[in-house]
Amino acid sequence: MTQERYDPAGLEPKWQKIWEESGCFAAESAHDKPKYYTLIEFPYPSGNGLHVGHPRSNTALDIISRKRRMEGYNVLFPMGYDAFGLPTENYALATGIHPAEVTRVNVDKFRSQLKKLGFSFDYSREVNTTDPNYYKWTQWIFLKLFAAGLAYKTEMPINFCNSCKVGLANEEVKDGACERCGGEVVRKVKSQWMLRITDYAEKLLDGLDHLDFIERVKTQQRNWIGRSSGAQVRFEIAGQARNDILVYTTRPDTLFGATYMVLAPEHPLVDALAGQIKNRDAVLAYRATAAFKSDFERSELNKDKTGVPLQGISAINPATGRPIPVWISDYVLMGYGTGAIMAVPGHDDRDWAFARAFGLPIVEVVAGGDIEKEAYTDCESGVMVNSGFLNGLQVPEAIAAMTAWLAERGLGEYKVNFKLRDWVFSRQRYWGEPIPLVHCPCCGWVPLPESELPLVLPEIENFYPAEDGSSPLTRAVDWVKTTCPTCGGPASRETDTMPQWAGSSWYFLRYLDPHNDKVFADPKELAYWLPVDWYNGGMEHTTLHLLYSRFWHRFLYDIGQVPVPEPYQKRTSHGMILGENGEKMSKSRGNVVNPDEIVAELGADSFRLYEMFMGAFDQPIPWSTNGARGCKRFLDRVWRLSDMLATPPDGAAATPLGEGGYTSRQMRGKVHACIKKVSEDYERMKFNTAIAAMMSLVNDFYAQGSLTPEELRILLLLLSPVAPHICEEMNEALGHQPLHHAPWPKYDEAALIADTVEYGIQVNGKLRARAELGAELTPAEIEAAVLALPELPPFLEGKTLRRVIVVRNVVNVVVN
Ligand SMILES: [Zn+2]
Ligand SMILES: [Zn+2]
Repeated sequence: MTQERYDPAGLEPKWQKIWEESGCFAAESAHDKPKYYTLIEFPYPSGNGLHVGHPRSNTALDIISRKRRMEGYNVLFPMGYDAFGLPTENYALATGIHPAEVTRVNVDKFRSQLKKLGFSFDYSREVNTTDPNYYKWTQWIFLKLFAAGLAYKTEMPINFCNSCKVGLANEEVKDGACERCGGEVVRKVKSQWMLRITDYAEKLLDGLDHLDFIERVKTQQRNWIGRSSGAQVRFEIAGQARNDILVYTTRPDTLFGATYMVLAPEHPLVDALAGQIKNRDAVLAYRATAAFKSDFERSELNKDKTGVPLQGISAINPATGRPIPVWISDYVLMGYGTGAIMAVPGHDDRDWAFARAFGLPIVEVVAGGDIEKEAYTDCESGVMVNSGFLNGLQVPEAIAAMTAWLAERGLGEYKVNFKLRDWVFSRQRYWGEPIPLVHCPCCGWVPLPESELPLVLPEIENFYPAEDGSSPLTRAVDWVKTTCPTCGGPASRETDTMPQWAGSSWYFLRYLDPHNDKVFADPKELAYWLPVDWYNGGMEHTTLHLLYSRFWHRFLYDIGQVPVPEPYQKRTSHGMILGENGEKMSKSRGNVVNPDEIVAELGADSFRLYEMFMGAFDQPIPWSTNGARGCKRFLDRVWRLSDMLATPPDGAAATPLGEGGYTSRQMRGKVHACIKKVSEDYERMKFNTAIAAMMSLVNDFYAQGSLTPEELRILLLLLSPVAPHICEEMNEALGHQPLHHAPWPKYDEAALIADTVEYGIQVNGKLRARAELGAELTPAEIEAAVLALPELPPFLEGKTLRRVIVVRNVVNVVVN
């Protein structure tokens, strides 16, 4: 077609313009075709622009989306922006530019970068979580949660980042530090809005069973939800009619071995019993110290056990009827379980270490260990000892017997427990969705009527977080002052805003009908498009966004707003792209690769191709600009194939060889094997091996010195989801309609049968030669062909031929 060299800078903008103007990637509004909904996590539009990590996920699902369109599906592949959040606000604070303006600039930058990469997004459905027409519905869903009793405000100790001046969810604390800034996280008692995700623990767990999620995602969610069963046990306090200590244990069978109890330092009983505690000063001093430690320091890092006994207080072990001491220690957390434990030092490592440190008694109740040396924790099976009526029972029997014994006496009950905590759903920051509630001195918390949504974030001059941790919105005095929707009296608006995870908890629903101002999405659209067929995103979101959005969706299902219980049918995850030096990319390490520079040098197609070829998709992999250049060289080779076009041999099209013209029967076999390999590998996200198969086919074309237009067109069809611009250009030159809606090629199983077999040729069992022989040859013909090979005479000279044995693809020539 052309002798010109491959010039991505010329042809890529051309095709991007054609795609944009024709709207060819917009999902069709008619519902007559089967649908396919591909989703990637919408980005947070940071000021740094697109990162080379984003296109890995984007390209992968762009490949799937393009393939599905070619397979005849109506595909929805949307894009939007998750634009509320701290980095924008912090940037705005540093520069004095309003966060809304920062967001607008960043979104424009992201969009233009994405367009330069040729993704087949339906841009007409773009959403932005900071748009009042979007967050109107975030607020609307919040009000539904509130009405259902799933949103409540409570005083609680929360994780608080001293540098961000903001409360963090447990999920946002990584290794004891703030996930955002790496700063120190302490406990602070604050009044917070909470979402009762714990009410959905069982549903979120069971829902996983029927989903096509990669196993490590399921496992992480299951562990995070952390279902266990056991007993809740009530310990009376000696000499006290009220004030029992409640504990949850998965091992009620070990109750006879509970020799002391430990409360979290913040436990309310410490206050309730203050009058009886003899060493009150020491107890309060210990509590004050513990308040400065994070949960992580208190649990994971806690090597040296510390604690203070509550002198003057003892609890009654309900099994033995004997008094046991009560301590406070920071290794027990208020946020987990009941904030109190029964310590069984014979069979728990931490309790054992604590008992050793403070000289508390250690009793063996399951036979088998050596509790003088260490706790015998390997005691899930075994025989009960030192345990009264449980003696001689196996552990599972003892658990059941003790649970029943406690229940009969009103001292305990069977209980299922979850590790999952309620979700801290408010932040004292500016750049978030206003919480649409009003506090009235007479009526309490009152929801805004739906007609008043969206409640728009007020413009304020100073959106710095306050030193005391209160929200900057308290400064919007006129906005805060309002009237109660119920009684009409004076009232004030909530000044906390929603956390970063609010807008992303339902965005996949808004894509279905983004311009609707009557409902968040029309029921007909919901019925047609849901669930998302394939969702790819980062593993780091498994216990955050992925769990939160499943919760919101399941709630909307329960109140009849969506037609299916689970939002995502399939979930996969990509490995992270590291810097060239193998470390995580970051500005401070100076190893960040800018996608714009790569596209400017090599073109979008080479960039996309490299991101898919660089290694196994689900594994982390270091970036290599040289590797990307290698991908450009491959596309140069593809481009030059058009110089090698030859008409097929006379009559080829009329032979039973198939639909089009192929160079030869062998080449047809290779082309069809490539169709099979690429089709299957794309589906399994084995993009690198699919690309390797196409590279190998291109080598075969070069080795042959020519190829037919039909052979080239099949290669272009297969390669087009990865490198769409170059393929469209070459396809156009062949005189065909655009590839993006062309049918995906099918392979002919019969073509795959090999025409030749490669034989290893041995002389007396030693490999001496290789030969490719026709698959149809008889053993006698094989023998004749092998003996005629030029490599053999040196090994046969002066010897007598005894036999020639053919076993599968090995020929052994026996001589002596
Ligand atoms: Zn922070
Ligand atoms: Zn009122």
